[in-house]
Amino acid sequence: MKMIIGGRHVDSRDRATVEVYNPSTHELIDTVPSATAEDVQDMLRIAQKGKKIWSAKSIGERYDILMFAADLAWQERETIADMVCREQGKVRSAALEEAEKVSLLFRGYAEKARHAYGEMLPDNGADMIVVRRDPLGVIACVIPFNFPAELFAHKVAPALATGNAVVVKPASDTPLVDIYLVDLLHRAGVPGEVVQVVTGSGSRIGKLLSGSPLIDGISLTGSTEVGIDVMREAAGNLTHVFLELGGNDAMVVFDDADIEQAADEAVNARIYNAGQVCCSTKRCVVHNKVREAFTTLVARKMQALRVGNAADPDSDMGPLVNESAAEAAQQQVAEMMQQGATLVCGGHAFDKTYFEPTVLDGVTPDMDIAKDLEVFAPVVTVIGFDTEEEAVSIVNGSMYGLSGGVMTADIRRGMRVALAMDSGGVVVGGSGMYRTLDMPFGGHNKSGISHEGFLDTMNEMVKTKSIVLKGILS
Ligand code: NAP
Ligand code: MG
Repeated sequence: MKMIIGGRHVDSRDRATVEVYNPSTHELIDTVPSATAEDVQDMLRIAQKGKKIWSAKSIGERYDILMFAADLAWQERETIADMVCREQGKVRSAALEEAEKVSLLFRGYAEKARHAYGEMLPDNGADMIVVRRDPLGVIACVIPFNFPAELFAHKVAPALATGNAVVVKPASDTPLVDIYLVDLLHRAGVPGEVVQVVTGSGSRIGKLLSGSPLIDGISLTGSTEVGIDVMREAAGNLTHVFLELGGNDAMVVFDDADIEQAADEAVNARIYNAGQVCCSTKRCVVHNKVREAFTTLVARKMQALRVGNAADPDSDMGPLVNESAAEAAQQQVAEMMQQGATLVCGGHAFDKTYFEPTVLDGVTPDMDIAKDLEVFAPVVTVIGFDTEEEAVSIVNGSMYGLSGGVMTADIRRGMRVALAMDSGGVVVGGSGMYRTLDMPFGGHNKSGISHEGFLDTMNEMVKTKSIVLKGILS
């Protein structure tokens, strides 16, 4: 596929390309252009026209176009799901859930923008004061590989709904579905200058975007390391940043919890998308009285999983996104064993991109995996505790703070621990892998800045302006 700049499907100036593989079969699916710096500049110049064209449209016109896009995305959800399954390796049922959210997000943001009524403040003497929320201008949306369609929509839909022009930079592993979605928006009537997509290496193109004075906001989901890089580049122009970053989420399991249910929560939260989810449960913090029973159950459930081609309906779990992700996971597990963790099952990469469902027990709070090491693979780690204070201290011993969970029969204790956990969300009665489209989803500490979801995102993608009509009431 080609990039789409100014509505035209184009190669890069020097014709260089990036290869896109199916991680389930290792087949080459397609190539995309590796954009040059001049290609990026072209796109940013066109986006300056785009922001004028789009912000000049009435809310009714924008609403009709975005609702049509939502309809198209719904009609084409099976195609979108096939693309996600093929280039990312998510099992087909989960890929379809993801595809459906694209339509729901465009519909929801169009509706919210259609009804974004204004604010008038109490009169100040004879002065009337109104507050406007205008588009920021051009928003760069940088998408990670793990939810290439859903996270495209979580960013692009609110940006367009609030009247911004958008430039998209997909992850190099998963660019095809994002190019398809930009084309879909054009078919729905979004002008070519208003939404564009550029492909190529993030470390090169990402920098050109975040450091550019032609960008007014940059919304990135990705690793904390890259988020910090983006913020540093953006600082030169005081460009707004919206960062949804990594996590090492914990689920605390007390000795009065339903252990069967806790084990199901832990396994489901860890095998979804083969563990490549920001808010997947990466640390199980389990009371020592039930630790052995919990670990045995989890290992049994993990070993029963069918791992295979993501397109095969019999697969519970597909591959990791690429070969180096599988190698990295194997290396991380080996390091944790060197630090003293016990391997209960799994631990190995196989057939290049696949990783065995893995359980590590005997993890102690001083080990990397108990703190800041984010493992993006189906690896359950079990850390024991004896007191509630100890559990909270283990949970908060990480630089991250995206989400988390508490399992206990005592609702008061569940609430107490939820309040003490320093994270952007906590589920009482389940794992932290929980997200609705409405919730303000975002992290504390090094898990990010800002939130995504119907409640908050639109308020963040605008610039606020107070207009005073001085003496108008006199
Ligand atoms: P990543 O390596 O940080 O890449 C994310 C995106 O940023 C990709 O499009 C990448 O392009 C681009 N990029 C790379 N270097 C860049 C730079 N210097 N400047 C600007 N952009 C750059 O992350 P990933 O491996 O795709 O995704 C996994 C990470 O995302 C995990 O840490 C996960 O926890 C996090 N995540 C967070 C959330 C959340 O909502 N908080 C949701 C999902 C995932 P290339 O692909 O071309 O390198
Ligand atoms: Mg990456």
